[in-house]
Amino acid sequence: MTREEIFMQQAIAVGLEGMRAGKGGPFGCVIVQNNQIIASGCNTVLATNDPTAHAEVVAIRQACAYLQSFQLTGCELYASCEPCPMCMGAIYWARPDKVYFANTKADAAAIGFDDAFIYEEMARPMHLRKLSMQCLDSTNAIEMFAEWQEKGNKTLY
Ligand SMILES: [Zn+2]
Repeated sequence: MTREEIFMQQAIAVGLEGMRAGKGGPFGCVIVQNNQIIASGCNTVLATNDPTAHAEVVAIRQACAYLQSFQLTGCELYASCEPCPMCMGAIYWARPDKVYFANTKADAAAIGFDDAFIYEEMARPMHLRKLSMQCLDSTNAIEMFAEWQEKGNKTLY
């Protein structure tokens, strides 16, 4: 097995264990830095009643806590399934160097985890989306942005 295949096997094992324990769906993730697994996570949506507790998000939180950093520079992320739109967003924010996945989103859709509608929704104009969204004008909100811009000694990310 290649090193990538070995790490992917770990991601799958974590997902399998979580699924069998009833924590959530069949999804696992490990994050690797310098050829070492620094974090792993399974889907814990059911165990924690947290719809954002996808394996990738769980692993990213653990890796960032371990590294004491909000960036995963120099890391590789191994997900047992192609990341959903939420996880893709989280992965882009975390900025690992590379993502590997095994099952595809088509494989996930075939067992009832279909995120195609989210991709479709995001491509639609706001007024045509199924989720109602409305922009409320607020001076306070834009003032908060102005204060951030003027704030000294801030960390950009
Ligand atoms: Zn996800």
